[in-house]
Amino acid sequence: MSKHHKHRGYGAQFSASPKDGLVLEVLALAEKAGAKAGYAAAKEELYRTIGSGQFLNEQETDELLAAAQRAGSAAALVAARKVLDKTLRTSFAHHHHASVSSSPTMPPALPPTVTEEPLTKYSPALGLLDTPRTKIEQHILTITRVERLNDQIVRLIASAPNLDGYRSNAALDEYVKVVVADPALGLVPPYDLRALRHRLPREQMPRSKSYTIRWVDPALNELAIDFVVHGAPGTVGHWAGNAQPGDPIVISPARSKSSLSLTASYYVLAADEAGLPAIAKVLEALPSSASGVALLEVTDENAMFDVKHPEGVVLRWLPRGLVPAGKSNVLPVALQSLPLPAGQVGVIAHAERSTIKAIHQITEYWHLNKHASHISSYWTLRENRLHS
Ligand SMILES: Cc1cc2nc3c(=O)[nH]c(=O)nc-3n(C[C@H](O)[C@H](O)[C@H](O)COP(=O)(O)OP(=O)(O)OC[C@H]3O[C@@H](n4cnc5c(N)ncnc54)[C@H](O)[C@@H]3O)c2cc1C
Repeated sequence: MSKHHKHRGYGAQFSASPKDGLVLEVLALAEKAGAKAGYAAAKEELYRTIGSGQFLNEQETDELLAAAQRAGSAAALVAARKVLDKTLRTSFAHHHHASVSSSPTMPPALPPTVTEEPLTKYSPALGLLDTPRTKIEQHILTITRVERLNDQIVRLIASAPNLDGYRSNAALDEYVKVVVADPALGLVPPYDLRALRHRLPREQMPRSKSYTIRWVDPALNELAIDFVVHGAPGTVGHWAGNAQPGDPIVISPARSKSSLSLTASYYVLAADEAGLPAIAKVLEALPSSASGVALLEVTDENAMFDVKHPEGVVLRWLPRGLVPAGKSNVLPVALQSLPLPAGQVGVIAHAERSTIKAIHQITEYWHLNKHASHISSYWTLRENRLHS
């Protein structure tokens, strides 16, 4: 084995001696451990806030955990560099002192002057160390069809040989991250988000947002995602509204957050447009004998479309009219007025964050079947942020 190790990020000319290798390894370990510790601390804090009734949506949770990881790794790296720097200075000074005083022709040794920063050659270390390169887990498909379900929702059907390795997890709430980059940057997928984070300002990073896999057809190598069309250029919602057959779509591997078992005796389902794909999947999966009600928030009567559902589950489309998405209270008001049956109720609700908070408050004292219930925020209304 070669005595020198190449290190990613330093260019071809940087090859490290075994000692350099050890230093880099320590820095890499510190970076990794810091990231892990930051992540764990933030997660614990998140559980605490959930316990006290505060909610972050998935996007905010991801951003918070990523920030904690970055902060943790940066702090650990600074600490490790300090310790290494001190150690190397001491050994450098000791070595310098020893070699100077051992020369018979030289005058008596002077106290060593440290002129060299022992760790400078390892800068910038953050994020550039030779940590094991993780495979970029993204699947690149091609949009083959674009279907308008109503004025706000577009279905993109995408395909690739063998679905480019995408495997359905068959979960009822199967979802993916859809990754969209600004075409002006000329980035080529798959996107190495970790590396790009060190290179690009935050506002230029590819967007990575959660979307329900509406259906997968492995025989035809096709899958479908329903997107709410909204927002300004730069948002995934805007990208979806302009997507054309032939365009690529980049998705993460399949994810799932709940292990719902559809075992309730009565169902109350609620969604705005973002939650509608997930609720439509539940409606399709319910046994034909199921009973309940599905409250579906849309803009107006023209926005209703066909959703397959058991006969015993009543669909109630709730137009919010001129009230903007995320500001309407049609879902909580309808929920509040429901006459509930005596048995165990399964509540599945996905909508904007404050709506979900209201739904939580209303259903808190219901006799819920926990295994058949999943109430979670799908997006957060943020005014003046890339909004149309
Ligand atoms: C598990 C899961 C599954 C999801 N499935 C779907 C799905 O199948 N289809 C779908 O469309 N969404 C779905 N969402 C919601 C989607 O991830 C968010 O709406 C996401 O914020 C959209 O990203 P963006 O880049 O378009 O906008 P962002 O950058 O997040 O937001 C930009 C602006 O648009 C506003 N905004 C964000 N989402 C909406 C919206 N839906 N309606 C109106 N304004 C909005 C924000 O308030 C902000 O002002 C899902 C979310 C989760 C957690």
